[in-house]
Amino acid sequence: MASTFQLSGAVIVPLDTEGSKPFVGNLVVEKGRIAWLGPAEDMPGRYLGISQEELSGQALLPGLINGHIHSEAVIFRGLLEGLTLIEQYHPTCRLNELLTPKDTPLIRKLAYLECAKGGTTFILDHAFTTIKGDICEPFRTVGVWGGLTLGEKTAPEDFQMVAEGGFLPYINAPGEEDWTEETLTGYARLRDKLGVPLYLHLAETTWRWQIAKDRFNASPVAALDKFGTLESGTVGVHGVWMDEDDIALLAKNATAIVNTPTSEMKLGDGVAPLPRLLSAGVKVGLGTDGALWNNGNDMLAEAKVACLLHRLTTAPNSLSAENALRLATIDGARCFGVEKETGSLSVGKRADMFTINLIQPHLQPIYPGERGNIVENIVLCASRGDVVNLWVAGEKIISGGFSTRIDEEKLIGDFALLAENLQDKIKNVISRKVILE
Ligand SMILES: [Zn+2]
Repeated sequence: MASTFQLSGAVIVPLDTEGSKPFVGNLVVEKGRIAWLGPAEDMPGRYLGISQEELSGQALLPGLINGHIHSEAVIFRGLLEGLTLIEQYHPTCRLNELLTPKDTPLIRKLAYLECAKGGTTFILDHAFTTIKGDICEPFRTVGVWGGLTLGEKTAPEDFQMVAEGGFLPYINAPGEEDWTEETLTGYARLRDKLGVPLYLHLAETTWRWQIAKDRFNASPVAALDKFGTLESGTVGVHGVWMDEDDIALLAKNATAIVNTPTSEMKLGDGVAPLPRLLSAGVKVGLGTDGALWNNGNDMLAEAKVACLLHRLTTAPNSLSAENALRLATIDGARCFGVEKETGSLSVGKRADMFTINLIQPHLQPIYPGERGNIVENIVLCASRGDVVNLWVAGEKIISGGFSTRIDEEKLIGDFALLAENLQDKIKNVISRKVILE
């Protein structure tokens, strides 16, 4: 498609300002960015006659921000079910050891494609394994934007390669089980030396919370604060076991929390105080976690689960559908400091967006305007299978539900072959887990 084009006739859900409402209209893209949006009759004359795509019957939304995946876990999808995190911990480490740097790009591409087909345009991959050579190749091949964690031993040039490629590098800092005063201060020094922020699991389960308590006589959040690792830019994932003092520390330091409600439900070890985090002004986004803990990477489902979980544990009005959608878009973008670039349909931002087919039994009827139901239908009724088109920086990478860049059949075939080749080793690891129990 031309570098300047208009999308017309969609129900546009801009999420640009608090209280902004969906409307039927047009959106113009110029050189990968949103140049204009509004009702068709208000469109400036200069855009008349430009390349046009008709999207009547579809909703157009800002691309979803998946703030926490472990891409490699898709190869272990459906395994290690019904276990606590501590029971899963060592088997998961051994499963990851089965993967070679040669396997990683293929696995990442499958995970990223799964995300894109579900409406996600930005992925933060908390990577378990490494890639030799072009670290960002899986992002580029699928066409999504995002960020990547790299281990402490990674060469500084590799952090630079990620940043120069236009992606966001993060230092892969450890969870509480590997914390000592020395490691935490060491990570703070590394962050300052590289100018790259920290990304870590934080206060996820009682097991991890108790480790911080035993070693530092402090909660995980307070321990991070004590050793200079809680600051604006740091992203903590999960944030389940936190009291009012912890929440105040997060708000004061502008530390972001990426919450993963499905993963919390699967692990059965607490629910994050999400409504309290939001009312305290903490930056909060959503993530799906790895496929061992979800079991997929469907951000529309995650928004719905967030809504329902907090209605169950707090109150029916604790998280509206619109606020859940904001967590999955603009609020997620804030966690990574990219809210001026993506996360809403606003003039000047990258054209990161996707459409949903509304002409389906489960998404009808649509009541427009005040007291309408469009956002509620999208969050509470739609799922990844309803995504039709997806653009990243104005490039349409999903069209009619399929990748415009990748031979999906071949990718899935190659992935299935890799899984087949690994299955004996995988079963060996899992059966050893059973013996250990
Ligand atoms: Zn995780």
